[in-house]
Amino acid sequence: MVTPQPAIENLVVVGSGPAGYTAALYAARANLNPLLITGYQDGGIAGGQLMTTTHVENFPGFPDGILGPDLMDRMKAQAVRWGTRLIEADAEAIDLSQRPYRLQVEGQTINSHSLIIATGASANRLQIAGEDHFWNKGISACAICDGATPQFRNEQLAVLGGGDSACEEAVYLTKYGSQVHLIVRRQELRASRAMADRVLANPQITVHWNRQIAGFSGNGWLEGVQLLNGEGAVAETLAVRGLFYAIGHTPNTRLLRGQLELDGKGYLLTQPGSPATSREGVYAAGDVADPHWRQAITAAASGCQAALAAERWLSEQNLAVTVERQPVDPVAAELPKETANTTETDFDAEALWQGGSYALRKLYHDSSKPLLVVYTSPSCGPCHVFKPQLKRVLNELEGAAQGVEINLETDPEIATQAGVTGTPTVQLFLQKELKQQWRGVQQRSTVKAAIEALLTQAA
Ligand SMILES: Cc1cc2nc3c(=O)[nH]c(=O)nc-3n(C[C@H](O)[C@H](O)[C@H](O)COP(=O)(O)OP(=O)(O)OC[C@H]3O[C@@H](n4cnc5c(N)ncnc54)[C@H](O)[C@@H]3O)c2cc1C
Repeated sequence: MVTPQPAIENLVVVGSGPAGYTAALYAARANLNPLLITGYQDGGIAGGQLMTTTHVENFPGFPDGILGPDLMDRMKAQAVRWGTRLIEADAEAIDLSQRPYRLQVEGQTINSHSLIIATGASANRLQIAGEDHFWNKGISACAICDGATPQFRNEQLAVLGGGDSACEEAVYLTKYGSQVHLIVRRQELRASRAMADRVLANPQITVHWNRQIAGFSGNGWLEGVQLLNGEGAVAETLAVRGLFYAIGHTPNTRLLRGQLELDGKGYLLTQPGSPATSREGVYAAGDVADPHWRQAITAAASGCQAALAAERWLSEQNLAVTVERQPVDPVAAELPKETANTTETDFDAEALWQGGSYALRKLYHDSSKPLLVVYTSPSCGPCHVFKPQLKRVLNELEGAAQGVEINLETDPEIATQAGVTGTPTVQLFLQKELKQQWRGVQQRSTVKAAIEALLTQAA
């Protein structure tokens, strides 16, 4: 069901984690025609924090667990199926000084009677010397995204932190590293008992208690992490090739400072027992207003509450302009499909997007078009976000360029040869020459402009 963009939206949801998609789903089913600003790079990625994890074992309805990115793909598909409109970009500014409220997104102004803020939280960094230098060259904030890359295989690795995420990441990394060092600031783990016990019982994990990081060393890639003891004296240097941060999150409320009431740590304050913020018609959902529970299910539940509260407020104010759903039952939800590896029999020299080493070899040697080589792994949430954007670029270029997807899990040797250090990595080739490389999620316009520049040169 495609609906035109109204001059004033009923409801804009900002953020696409479990809170945002659930809020949008409820609002869409209430025929409120919600608009959801997914977020893209500011404050995490579209899909939110679960895009950076592997198995989610505690979300009801998935008895055998589900990969975080797959769960978020499903939430997105369900919200879209019921008519949620998406803008896959960041909200750059939010103005709550007058009604209708105003948002700036991709250079356009969006007016809305009500808002649900579901912007979640972002991973913290240490901000110490050397961190920037080794960022993505051994240091990562996402073990789940980067752990499978060849540089970390059978190497000594470290995780910084003592909470559930740190413990989960340490256990996860034992699949790839030879030994995992868990660097803990205190003399105990803050993680749940069950998670802490798993770590302490794992012979592949060594816990370093009362330690803080003082600095880093290495020659182009991380080789050592210097640790201080509880008294601030140099304790030891861990010879590790990878360091994964798991030191908490900061609520994404920068755009709302001075406009809504926040607590001392920057979390949105809501009225007791209600998702209502300090401003009429503006509701909060999920981790952005939750310093305590911070779970996918609590975020989803508060997204539901926020949508119901917004719906009630819009109808009390006589502001809601509902849409009529035709047909009443929407068509089945569409989920993203895995890219199959192309073989000699099904290779298509003109296809826009193919997978695997055979397609890469053929296109690299034989194609005269710009070629995007996209390194991914199945559990890499940012890849779920970036791949559709890249496919959109190739579609917009109508066959003038092509893409090949290389899965690091099944083709690790290709990634090693290409010097790939994490996913997603995208390399842009023209006639066997590497023209550009991007690490991490980029704006679609950046990639498109680079390809167009090559096409112009080649013309
Ligand atoms: C590694 C890890 C593992 C976890 N495992 C589990 C688990 O197993 N089970 C569980 O229940 N919970 C788990 N959690 C916690 C869970 O992920 C969070 O509680 C949940 O994702 C919070 O949902 P949310 O919708 O509030 O926010 P988030 O998931 O943080 O999503 C926030 C959204 O807001 C968007 N955003 C931010 N700024 C802007 C902006 N300016 N404009 C537009 N959009 C913006 C972001 O792009 C993102 O889409 C885990 C968290 C982590 C980090």
